Amino acid sequence: MSRPHTKPTRTAQLGVAALAAMAIVSSSNTALAWDDHSIYARPALVDLPEISQFPLVEVESLEVFLSAEEEGLAKLLSDNEAWALATVPAYPPLPQDLVLMAGGDRDTLRTRFLEALRMAPDIKLALYTKAPLGAEPLADGGLPWAEVTTLHDPGALGDAVLIPTPEGTRVAPLDVVTSAADEPDYGFDLGIWTDNDTAWGPRYGMGDQPFGDPTKEYSSQAPMHMGLYHEAGIVYTLASFLERTYPELRVHQFQTLARYAFETGHDYWGWRFTGWALHYVQDQAMPYHTQVLPGVSVARMLWINTLSMVGISGPVDNAVRLVSNRHIGMEHYVREVFEATLEQADHPFRAALADTTIDAHYGTFDDTYTRHTVALEAVSRAKGLDRALERYVPELLVSDPAYIMDETEKDINVYERVLDADATAVASLEPTFTELLGSFGAHSRVFVRTLRAGLPVPAPLPEPVPMEQIEELPLDAQPSDAAAGELL
Ligand SMILES: [Zn+2]
Repeated sequence: MSRPHTKPTRTAQLGVAALAAMAIVSSSNTALAWDDHSIYARPALVDLPEISQFPLVEVESLEVFLSAEEEGLAKLLSDNEAWALATVPAYPPLPQDLVLMAGGDRDTLRTRFLEALRMAPDIKLALYTKAPLGAEPLADGGLPWAEVTTLHDPGALGDAVLIPTPEGTRVAPLDVVTSAADEPDYGFDLGIWTDNDTAWGPRYGMGDQPFGDPTKEYSSQAPMHMGLYHEAGIVYTLASFLERTYPELRVHQFQTLARYAFETGHDYWGWRFTGWALHYVQDQAMPYHTQVLPGVSVARMLWINTLSMVGISGPVDNAVRLVSNRHIGMEHYVREVFEATLEQADHPFRAALADTTIDAHYGTFDDTYTRHTVALEAVSRAKGLDRALERYVPELLVSDPAYIMDETEKDINVYERVLDADATAVASLEPTFTELLGSFGAHSRVFVRTLRAGLPVPAPLPEPVPMEQIEELPLDAQPSDAAAGELL
C-alpha cells in the first residue's frame, strides 16, 4: 500500500483517532467476552480434584477477612507493587496515598483495601452464589441484581438465580469459584481512569482511559479485561495507548490474594479470589478480547486508518461495526447453544470444557502465561473464528454494517437464526467453538492446579448436629455453643 504523505508525528497524531475508534469495538456496553463466565467455568472445574475434594467452606465477609489479616495484606500488596513495577509493561505506579497501611481506621479498611487494588470502591461484594444454568428460581426470587452489581443496567448480566449465603453458611468451593468467575464484570473496574467522572478515578494515577468512551459506564472496564499484547509494531507506533491494557495485573493481584487467603485459613476468600483471577485469564481466551480488529489484516487496518485521516471514515466505521457484531454474536451463540442443550451433559461444548487431555500440554501457570500462552493462542485463532462466523452465520447478522447486534433486533437468538438458515452450519461451526472452549477449560484448570500446588487440604468442618438430635435431647441438656451456632 502507498505510504501516507504526512510526517510521522502528524501520522501518529491523526492515526490515533481511527485506531481509537477501532478499539472501542470491544468496549461496547454489551460485550462481556464470555457473556457469563460461571456457565462455562462449571463444566471446566466440576471434576477438578483440587476443587471437588476440598471440603465445604464457611462464608466470611470481606471485612472479617481484612480485619484478621490487615498486616499480612499490607505486606502482600507492597510485594505486589514491586512485582508490577518490575513485570507489567506501562504500569502506572500506585500513588503513595493509596498504599494500604496496617493499623489504620478499621471503619475505612474495606475502602482502603479496594483503593489500594485500584478497584471501584463502591462494588457490592454481596455474599451469594449463582445457581447453575437452568436451576429453578427461588421462591422469593433470590437476590436482585441491584444487590450484586453497581451497573446501572444489569440487563446484560442475564437472569441467573442469585442465592444469598449469609456469613457462617457452608458452601461448596465449586459454587464459590464459579460464581466469582463472573463477578469482575459486575463493576470491579468501572471509573478507574483519570477522565472518568467518578470520585476515585482522578486519584488512582491510572492516566486517562486508554481507549473507548470515558463517559460510557461500561467501557471503562475494557482495558483491564482485554489484553492487546500482540498487535503489529506499527499499530503500537501509531497508537501507543493500546499498550496500556492490564489483565495481567488483575490476575496477579487476585492470584496472590487467593493463595494468601488459603495459607491463612480463609478458604472462602481463597476460592472467591481464585474465581476473580480466573475471570481475567478466561477473558484472554476470547479472540475478540486480545486484538483490536480480529480478522482484519494489519495492511487493511492501516489503509482504512489512512482513509479515515483524509476524511473517509466509512471503511473504519464498517469494519468496527462488523467486528462488534461478530464479537457480540459469538457470545450470543455460545450461550444460546448451552441453553438449548441443557439436557445434553455430553454436548460437544460441555465435553470440550471438561476435556483434561490437553491440560498437560500447557504446563504450569507463571507470570508469562496470561500474555504468552492464553492471549497469544487466542490471537492465533482470531482469523479462523472470524472467517467461520462470516461463512456460517446469516449474512445480515455478521456481514452487514447497517445491522447493529442487540439494537436492530431486540432479544435476538443467534443460534436459532443459524439453525433456521442452514441446520448444517451448526456442525460446521462446532470445531471452531470446541477449540476455544477447550482452551477456556484447560487454562482454568492449569491456573487452579498451580495456585493450589503445595497447599494442604483442610479437614472438613465439624458436622452440624442434625435438628432431630437436638429435639431428642433431654430438656436440661443443651447442645454445645458450637453446635448451636451451626443451626443458626
Ligand atoms: Zn471480563
